[in-house]
Amino acid sequence: MNRELVIPPSHPRYASLMGREKIVTGFKDGVVAAEGLIAHGRGECFDYLIGEQTQDFALRAIDAAASQLLIASYPVFSINGNVAALCGDIISSLNSVIEHSAVEINLFYYTREREQNITNMLRKHGLTKMLGTDPSNLVKIPELESNRRFVDSRGIFQADTVFVPLEDGDRTMALKKMNKKVITIDLNPLSRTSQVSDITIIDNIVRAIPLLLERIKFHKQNSNYDQLRELIDGFDNKRALSQALDLMRVGAVSR
Ligand code: ATP
Repeated sequence: MNRELVIPPSHPRYASLMGREKIVTGFKDGVVAAEGLIAHGRGECFDYLIGEQTQDFALRAIDAAASQLLIASYPVFSINGNVAALCGDIISSLNSVIEHSAVEINLFYYTREREQNITNMLRKHGLTKMLGTDPSNLVKIPELESNRRFVDSRGIFQADTVFVPLEDGDRTMALKKMNKKVITIDLNPLSRTSQVSDITIIDNIVRAIPLLLERIKFHKQNSNYDQLRELIDGFDNKRALSQALDLMRVGAVSR
């Protein structure tokens, strides 16, 4: 008898279980760190509390993020193992739709082998240029002690806007001290990254990233600089965080 696990699309946790499968496959392929599995679990818990759906506060943040990425002089997408495993294909599309952007690999739990596995995976998704992997181009971010104190002198170091989904708080704070505009995707509105970023998309990256790509394409065709500025200036990150927390409180009680 074939006892292989098959998850039927009708399963109420189908999307969540498929995301879990992607992370586990990424772990087996040497793309995701063991610690990345735990970080994913923390995300799942918060996703449950927002009903595993993209909420209005996330949609507004996505519009502001799309606008910021379009008006930035040099936006850089920072990628770790979880991001590569969950949505490496969309990162590649974001990089091609924003022609003046770059992609940089940045690992908290660094090994040369994992960096190479991520590079190979992103190449399969069509990315030809990735920063952060050539040691001769790495420079230190002040005030950071972890492996991720290093950034590429041609990438994040020069960027005016940095997109850092699923990011560690120390690093986000260091990027803010370097006067970067920081955009993140993070399901936990209480994380330091969520709290200090300029634009926090409180949603599962698996749902948010395709929407971000869609909004970038839309605004590229339809919106001028003033309209994009208005979406950025009209977005209130503190408000989005408190709306997410309010929903989590109500959601947690009513389930
Ligand atoms: P911080 O250092 O910012 O205070 P942390 O220590 O929880 O927070 P990490 O574990 O380094 O941060 O980062 C992982 C973050 O990403 C967590 O806040 C987690 O909730 C969130 N996360 C995990 N998986 C997803 C996902 N699929 N989509 C969106 N967010 C996620």
